[in-house]
Amino acid sequence: MVAICINRIKQTLPKMKNLTVFFICVFVLLPASVSACIISTKGQPIQGGLMLFKTAGATNIQLDGVLININSENGFVIGFHRDDTEVQILSGVCPDGVSFIIKLKPKQRIYDIQKIYGLPSNMVSPPANTLNRIKKDAQIVKQARAIKGNSVNYFTDGFNWPVKGTITGVYGSQRILNGAPRQPHYGIDIAAPLGTPIHASASGEISMVKNLYFTGWTIIISHGDYISSTYSHLQDVFVDLGEQVTQDQIIGRVGSTGRSTGAHLDWRINWLDKRLDPKLVADMR
Ligand SMILES: [Zn+2]
Repeated sequence: MVAICINRIKQTLPKMKNLTVFFICVFVLLPASVSACIISTKGQPIQGGLMLFKTAGATNIQLDGVLININSENGFVIGFHRDDTEVQILSGVCPDGVSFIIKLKPKQRIYDIQKIYGLPSNMVSPPANTLNRIKKDAQIVKQARAIKGNSVNYFTDGFNWPVKGTITGVYGSQRILNGAPRQPHYGIDIAAPLGTPIHASASGEISMVKNLYFTGWTIIISHGDYISSTYSHLQDVFVDLGEQVTQDQIIGRVGSTGRSTGAHLDWRINWLDKRLDPKLVADMR
């Protein structure tokens, strides 16, 4: 059996017709005035993607009318969720007082469908007496992902893979367990021997260390600009809440805690409540 994590129940299947349609309509419209105060961009508008912007004094940066954090290095980030399809409007004001608008249409992707049969039924449907705990866990995770963090090293150093191993699950895949559709998978599952050291993808602050029902021992690191990374199913954790960690520092060891079928790391990257594809993010160099 492959080493994967068992995720939450999803009531309905996504529209499968998306699988048969190809979308090539990516565009980034950069009006002349933007170049004056957006110095550089990294990344593309694509589902699961992250974009990094450097500005020369731009203010009031908004995405679809919601204010975006500008960091100490005059940079800001935006991310795209798995299912983002609509054009998103990035706006701001240059130091000369001229406003700008950038239209970002996320490129749509085709996701894998992963069917797994023969799982014990208690792994597929959580027992009723665990529902309160599951709800509490979700709240704790949400709070951790809402922490801004204060490191900006990912602008220059990028994100590194936390462990080397066999990829047994990819971002965005639709899981069908014992014939029943589940939530899409938002992490990358990396199978590695029990006890393999896990490294921090980027520098940041430990914003959660907790043993959770679904994901077992789980660490969340806040990297700055509301980007966080999540490491699940750990055997051991070597860091404490609030601790500052540096890129590649060992934070724990691979395990199979929580709802897991074998030793692996589930690695995720988030921008607030948006789930990003760690592979796309790590490939931004
Ligand atoms: Zn996983």
